[in-house]
Amino acid sequence: MSFSELGICPEILEAIEVLGFETPSPIQGRAIPPALAGADILGLSHTGSGKTLAFSIPALESIDPSVHAVQVLCLAPTRELAVQICREVDKLALFLDGVSAAPIYGGASFAPQLAALHRGVQFVVGTPGRIFDLMEQGELKTDHISMLILDEADEMLDMGFQEDIERIVAFLPAERQTLLFSATMSPVIRALVESLAHDPQEIAIERPQLTVPTCEQTVYEVVFSSRIEVLSRLIEMGRMKRGLVFANTKRVVDDIVDGLLARGYSVDRLHGDMPQTLRERVMDSFRKGNLNVLAATDIAARGLDIDDVDMVVNFELPREPEDYVHRIGRTARAGRKGRAVSFIGRRDFSLLGRIERFVGVRMQRERVMTAEQVAQVRRESLVDEILERAATAENMPEELGDIDFPQEQLLSAMFELLVARTSRELQPIPEDRPSKFSRHAAGEEPAIEKGSSWSNLQESVTLFMNGGKLLGLRPKDVAGLFYNEGGAPKGTVGDIRLFLKHTLIEVSPEVAPQLLERLGTCLICGYEVNVREDKGRPAEKASAPRGFRPRRPGFDAEPKANSRPREEKRYSSRRSERDDRPERGSDDAPFSRRGSSYRGSSRRERRETGSGFFYDRFSRRPRRRD
Ligand code: AMP
Repeated sequence: MSFSELGICPEILEAIEVLGFETPSPIQGRAIPPALAGADILGLSHTGSGKTLAFSIPALESIDPSVHAVQVLCLAPTRELAVQICREVDKLALFLDGVSAAPIYGGASFAPQLAALHRGVQFVVGTPGRIFDLMEQGELKTDHISMLILDEADEMLDMGFQEDIERIVAFLPAERQTLLFSATMSPVIRALVESLAHDPQEIAIERPQLTVPTCEQTVYEVVFSSRIEVLSRLIEMGRMKRGLVFANTKRVVDDIVDGLLARGYSVDRLHGDMPQTLRERVMDSFRKGNLNVLAATDIAARGLDIDDVDMVVNFELPREPEDYVHRIGRTARAGRKGRAVSFIGRRDFSLLGRIERFVGVRMQRERVMTAEQVAQVRRESLVDEILERAATAENMPEELGDIDFPQEQLLSAMFELLVARTSRELQPIPEDRPSKFSRHAAGEEPAIEKGSSWSNLQESVTLFMNGGKLLGLRPKDVAGLFYNEGGAPKGTVGDIRLFLKHTLIEVSPEVAPQLLERLGTCLICGYEVNVREDKGRPAEKASAPRGFRPRRPGFDAEPKANSRPREEKRYSSRRSERDDRPERGSDDAPFSRRGSSYRGSSRRERRETGSGFFYDRFSRRPRRRD
């Protein structure tokens, strides 16, 4: 296939020739024709696949050079990417008279960006925070925007740009073409596409596999102090007959070895600065199967020639995605099955997201196995072992020959003895705490009072939860969380109002303190969320310290509060002090294709806090805050 077969105009074809590109890459071949025809696109392709050209060409063709106003808006997660895209657009527009592009990003002076807008650039590529600032200031006019592009949408969400994206979209005309590109697919991306695009064509480009499909990749969220115990449980369950455990530092490798030795497992270490002879000896022992577990740093493990490891454990996530690939490449070799288990902490979600994007695989999130589950698996594998032996066992031992006991009773006693002799005592960890909510998620009905609604509550207070429809939550999920995990008595949870990114829950005042304590930070459908008293957006934001950006958990990766450039954060807090902010409840509007549906706020719905009363926008009357 050649570029000329894609229906591209002669001016751009000439520019492509100057660039020296001969054949379109797969994403270009598949995305350019439908995009030129006006279709919305969901492109699943990684960096390096040529996606910039895939969206820039149709975008440039959609521009009317006689109109000196922004017509294409491309959002990118970082200034570097914005600048890079802009450079590529400039090159493609070499022979397009009167068409120009400009990058707009935070952390830089406004002056040149404003000058470009005043000059009448038609193609703007920018980071969401600054773009929104300029839109809100009325400097970036949106009336002529006919195409929205989101590049590396998954990364933008991971970086916490979702709110800005929603607000930007609210400014855009409903009649527009939307092209969204992402390296990974997830329910959040799916929800984003559905809310932004109209009947999008999905184009997925397979990237060369970095990890093999026979390697099952799992993630456990485990606090650091529980990790030795979880490692022991993996060994106990017989899932790590020969396991490699990776840590980022020598000190942690030592801790792993000491911790496992103290529990009686056969384990040794590999440090980068160990003498070669010692390393050889340890390796030899591991190869021969004398060691259950080998704990190593990345440097020490380089060049290791071991190929039948049944499990690789990332005791800590590696800091570089490439190291993850190297680490787990030691299992599931030569078509064999293998497992890679990664322990992560709360702060690791964004790193996890980066690794997942790099390998192009979404890892399975699992709850840590409880002591009971471990015990059950052990019993089952003992039965398997007994049966295996029984198949070849011949004579009844003499010592048992004369015993006059019912066979069942004898077997049962022997089995329990075996279990007791071979099991190690497991230590309780915080992750063991039974999650009633997980029982609900597993299909048990939550104790929801049928027909309960806010109107049933004589008095109510409103709680806020920072997760909503975009996480796929349904009212019954939230009710399940509040009743089961929060322990709310029957009928004390009223109206549950789900918005895109948050939920407002009416509860009886008596039960609110308990719920706030139990659900301050909790898990719902696998996402971490916070439940707090609803204070209403304006007051909440205005009281936030300068530069503070609330955390927005709930995506594949934990969004970083400080992931935006300082300049952008400063402006976002400055914005927050204004009066004309949209009410939180209007969140649905920005994501619909209704276009610029909000530009001011409904003062009627603003709430007072701190006075002992708050304005209840459902009943539209003041209520006392207990
Ligand atoms: P991207 O995935 O858009 O970041 O592109 C990755 C690199 O591939 C960039 O350096 C492009 O200049 C280059 N590139 C894009 N399309 C082609 C093509 N059809 N042939 C060769 N190189 C390309």
